[in-house]
Amino acid sequence: MSIEVKNITKSYGSQKALDNVSFSVKNGEIVGFLGPNGAGKSTLMKILTTYITSDEGSASVNGNDVETHQKQVQKSVGYLPEHNPLYLDLYVREYLGFNADVYKVDKSRIEEVIQLTGLTPEANKKIGQLSKGYRQRVGLATALLHNPEVLILDEPTTGLDPNQLVEIRDLIKNIGKDKTVFLSTHIMQEVEAICDRVIIINNGKIVTDKKLNTLVKEQQEQTIEVEFDKVVDATILNTIPNIKTTKNSHDFIWELTFETESDMRPIVFDFAHDNGLKILQLNLKNKNLEQIFREQTKK
Ligand code: ADP
Ligand code: MG
Repeated sequence: MSIEVKNITKSYGSQKALDNVSFSVKNGEIVGFLGPNGAGKSTLMKILTTYITSDEGSASVNGNDVETHQKQVQKSVGYLPEHNPLYLDLYVREYLGFNADVYKVDKSRIEEVIQLTGLTPEANKKIGQLSKGYRQRVGLATALLHNPEVLILDEPTTGLDPNQLVEIRDLIKNIGKDKTVFLSTHIMQEVEAICDRVIIINNGKIVTDKKLNTLVKEQQEQTIEVEFDKVVDATILNTIPNIKTTKNSHDFIWELTFETESDMRPIVFDFAHDNGLKILQLNLKNKNLEQIFREQTKK
């Protein structure tokens, strides 16, 4: 396991930011840590990167306990904090050189991370002259300097414009090909775009921990919108196998939901035929991940 979190609890005064949180991340996985603002994402990431300690429970990164083996943890983790502190007056190379000294990394690595993060065209500028997207690249380059096995990225795309967003997502995906990546976000689309798995946190508690494709499959309640050629009685519709709800949305148009994984469209056609009805149109309407996220994180 790359990251192992066991029963972590953390309070700030009387406020519980994390409440008995447990999960693990395998080598090479890209996991999205999703939750609304204030859910506890940054708090957990600070614990994993040894910036703060938990009240209860334990955590390890790359097999090293975050409390008893802090140095080893820091060696194996690259961290992009939420409010990435950059020195605006420093040149990109100068800033990376400063960090290379801190990490005791060979200077030749600076050019490697500049290449890796697509910083080459801006590498001669001062950080203060860079766009937010390029500043994030500098943050990522810094996190990658000591070539860590695990990357912990706290809301890496927040505040970026749509183009920068896509570029940084692609970059993370690319870097994630040979690293374990644990990234936080409050945007479900981000998880869809980058991650293999999603862990949803709400009010300090884990509410979902699933592979993305499993989540979609499981949460999908099949909704079929169908238009018949005449008035239909709901009691007849309720005889269709697996039917859960029926809603007459407009004239002869019905929204039918089913609790099953098998495709109900042919069954609805058969039903219409058997009952002397004609189908004028039929659509399968699936719940998207954004809706799933909203349901899971309702207060
Ligand atoms: P997220 O990153 O998911 O937005 P945080 O981990 O930053 O959430 O915060 C979780 C909760 O803990 C929030 O309610 C926040 O206000 C509170 N919190 C975070 N840091 C501190 C702190 N240093 N002192 C007091 N409360 C804090
Ligand atoms: Mg945060």
